[in-house]
Amino acid sequence: MREFKCPHCGQLSAFEDSECNRCKQRLMFDPENMAMVGAESALECVNRNIIGCNWCAVASAPYCLSCSLTQVIPTTQNSHNVFLWTRVEEAKRRLIYDLRRLRLPIASAGGFQLAFEILSDEHGPVLTGHESGLITVNLAEADDVQREIRR
Ligand SMILES: [Zn+2]
Ligand SMILES: [Zn+2]
Repeated sequence: MREFKCPHCGQLSAFEDSECNRCKQRLMFDPENMAMVGAESALECVNRNIIGCNWCAVASAPYCLSCSLTQVIPTTQNSHNVFLWTRVEEAKRRLIYDLRRLRLPIASAGGFQLAFEILSDEHGPVLTGHESGLITVNLAEADDVQREIRR
């Protein structure tokens, strides 16, 4: 993962940073431009306050590119679910970053669209797997998400 720069002061920042470690301005990752941007140039993904997503919202949408690919989220009354969901989304943002860096499609004209369901098994068994672009993640297997995504 390459390093990014704070748009305000030029300090190097990491992909996961949501604030500049020098000037303390809020930072967001913009996957369109593959760069960090500040709050003056984009809106924050609404999941920022819930799962610490540090990406900027897609224009006219409340969610970022990565979060908007998640069609189903686990029940969030359970704080452990939120913790695991946070980890899954972190791994997913790295995946989307890699897809964009390699110029691989997230959606194709043929109708293929990468999408995710992140489910907890409180309501029945959930099998982690994928079928025509829809990736189902069992929260209980959050540790294995990175591996499954790379298949
Ligand atoms: Zn800065
Ligand atoms: Zn997001």
